Amino acid sequence: MLLGGNLPGLMRPLLRVVDLIRKKRDGGELTREGIAFLVEGAARGTVPDYQLAAWLMAVVCRGMTRAETASLTEAMLRSGDVMDFSSLPAAKVDKHSTGGVGDKTSLVVAPIVAAAGLYVPMISGRGLGHTGGTLDKLESIPGFCVNLSLKEFRAALTACRCALGGQTPEIAPADKKLYALRDVTGTVESPALICASIMSKKLAEGIDALVLDVKTGDGAFMKNEQDAIALAELLVDTGKQMGKRVVALITDMDQPLGKAIGNALEVQECLEVLNGGGPEDSRELCLELSAWMLFLGKRVPDVTAGRKLAQEMIASGQARDTFRRVVRQQGGDADVVDDPSRLPCARHTETVRSKQNGFVAQIACERMGVASLILGGGREKQDDAIDPAVGIVLEKKIGSAVKSGDALCTVHYNADARLKEATAMLEDSFVVRAQAPPPRAPLIRKIVGA
Ligand code: URA
Repeated sequence: MLLGGNLPGLMRPLLRVVDLIRKKRDGGELTREGIAFLVEGAARGTVPDYQLAAWLMAVVCRGMTRAETASLTEAMLRSGDVMDFSSLPAAKVDKHSTGGVGDKTSLVVAPIVAAAGLYVPMISGRGLGHTGGTLDKLESIPGFCVNLSLKEFRAALTACRCALGGQTPEIAPADKKLYALRDVTGTVESPALICASIMSKKLAEGIDALVLDVKTGDGAFMKNEQDAIALAELLVDTGKQMGKRVVALITDMDQPLGKAIGNALEVQECLEVLNGGGPEDSRELCLELSAWMLFLGKRVPDVTAGRKLAQEMIASGQARDTFRRVVRQQGGDADVVDDPSRLPCARHTETVRSKQNGFVAQIACERMGVASLILGGGREKQDDAIDPAVGIVLEKKIGSAVKSGDALCTVHYNADARLKEATAMLEDSFVVRAQAPPPRAPLIRKIVGA
């Protein structure tokens, strides 16, 4: 495909996708027009997947300058509509994570913050690489629809103060295309691609404020804290330049968050948290993220007051009621909220046990995400159907004392085909040592942009 830009007649430089790929492959800097051309081609379907995938790989290998990243974010944002909810009578706030294993907080924080009086127009993604995705989790609730038109999205937001949707042909269509390609082509781990993907969706939501959960550790895309901080700064700067109030929490992903990994299992854990229970780390992170959203949305004067209000929304049942309303509004089986046994449930379980006495010193978190994926909980190819019921429940976390024969985790599965492979991976994922590991770094490592 060729493009002539805005220059008149013969002066126009012709853009060819193959030249843009070659230029990035060789470490060159693409122009705003070149990037816009590729992004438009992705959104309209005029550039084939093989060319997009080649370009994405070149970006992962060569990186992007700040100017290129800004052009990519802008082009992806402009590929669809930017929603305008300025007529709604309270602040619009959202939260987004860079992706992790068992990372399920969106389903809890959105109803907490909406119950407290702010609006949460949340556009999320599907599973990406070894990490799970909010849309896949929501779709494990029978009937729940994430493919909302602009009209349906607005109706849900107005009715429940919370709408939970995905990228569509109207909203962030370029991200819809590129995200799905990145998932299956090993092209996730690029700060520029992550920034453009997240911020194009978030800026399309018409929000006033955004809280980012930037994961660091073995189960994150940014394995070390320095890289996570650099990504957080890029995301925060991009949001602030667009006039939004933004902070990023750098949080631990050296082990899965909470106990459940897998779509329906994670929904179940979210319901536990909304009922005032659930694993401590899941609960803690949900409260902290909600507190920051309430503070940035100017609902409370400081984060401490935000935390208190978030706790009240759980204790009073208002957050759970809001979640029930959202599920019903979006076509889901709202009875799931009071009866989680209505969620899809795997036919079989298998226990992975410790072979020695000692303490869990390390967990290979990314590998656990891959194990859940190969059980059928994620995609290896585009359009793979996923099994909402499968996954893993951790029985021990880092620091737990174990005896030989104790359960380390439980595998929930439906098909035998890759069970052996998954359980072998899970056995190798737990490192048990005789000595207790040193005290862990806090779950929330640092806050960027406050
Ligand atoms: N979340 C997104 O929406 N995009 C990414 O690239 C990573 C996490």
